Amino acid sequence: MSFLSIKGLGKRFGSFVAVDKLDLDVERGEFISLLGPSGCGKTTTLQMVAGFIEPTHGTISVAGKDITSLRAEKRGMGVVFQSYALFPHMTVEQNIAFGLEMRGMSGQAMRTRIGETLSLVRLDGLSHRYPRELSGGQRQRVAIARALAIRPEVLLLDEPMSNLDAKLREEMHIEMRAIQRHLNITTVLVTHDQVEAMTMSDRIAVMHAGRIAQLDTPYNAYEHPASNFASTFLGKTNKFVAQALPPVDESSGRVKVGAHTLETAPYRLQGEVHAYIRPEKIHVQGAGGAGLAGRIQTKLFLGSVWMLEVETELGMIRVNAPNREPVTLNEGDPVTLSWNSRDVQVLPTEEVAH
Ligand code: ATP
Repeated sequence: MSFLSIKGLGKRFGSFVAVDKLDLDVERGEFISLLGPSGCGKTTTLQMVAGFIEPTHGTISVAGKDITSLRAEKRGMGVVFQSYALFPHMTVEQNIAFGLEMRGMSGQAMRTRIGETLSLVRLDGLSHRYPRELSGGQRQRVAIARALAIRPEVLLLDEPMSNLDAKLREEMHIEMRAIQRHLNITTVLVTHDQVEAMTMSDRIAVMHAGRIAQLDTPYNAYEHPASNFASTFLGKTNKFVAQALPPVDESSGRVKVGAHTLETAPYRLQGEVHAYIRPEKIHVQGAGGAGLAGRIQTKLFLGSVWMLEVETELGMIRVNAPNREPVTLNEGDPVTLSWNSRDVQVLPTEEVAH
């Protein structure tokens, strides 16, 4: 049985459905991200788990116990918000002590717990500083320390890194993940940052319009998106409107895009479909090879890759060529694009309700 179990959870604000019949099972020690665009219902879901918003319907249980109507402070959950919400007139130590005192801890036991937690988030030596005397990253660590100090059964994170600069954010992803594994805390993170979700999570729940569109490992969610929405929200992709064709054999598929027939990964659909291929799956070489002919319209250097936009008979195709060696082809040059047909995925044009 899963540790945190959400069944048929829903929230309506008036006639507006913010979260719709959401089911989610999180294993003990698992790190799950709720990933989706602004307004898809991530925060509302997290707030219902935390006990700050009352669900319109559905149940939430932890370790087999129904907590749907339990007050927030009785749920034993650690919560970290985007704004950190530290008390400005209290030192780091006092900020962390606050939650512990509320739970009846005091004296040496409390001081030991604060010391252990500060060292876990690498803030030793800063316990007497005030929040205004800390950097953004340090403040964020205090907020995390405050949530962890109570040794919560469940940790809920609502975009806690979004105020940090890109480099610090990346460091915190790795650090936070290590702390979470070390303490084996069941964690749910709300984010709209797909890199954040991918680096930290065991599984990602891709959310769309109040529902989970896909629940999968980061690798599967990226490599095998289950819907039109998931494939375009997670990373960049090239999309073609296509017509399904009968397959030649069981291990492959075919679609028609305009006058072209494309070989694809196997699929079971009929009629109008969408075919997708990721920019990094496409190989680019000079004109004349086997593949799709095109002409480079744009060439941009992005550091780890060269990003090319290539005009073809199938429309504009984006290619990410790895920066292993200089790409000598330039804007205006004719090229040939090729790829492995297994990397062309075919999905329905309509969103499939889960
Ligand atoms: P963001 O990434 O922008 O925080 P989100 O996915 O977390 O977005 P929610 O905050 O869960 O989205 O909001 C989901 C929807 O519910 C939004 O359309 C929002 O406007 C609406 N909503 C949230 N809270 C209320 C409220 N108290 N009253 C009415 N509508 C609300």
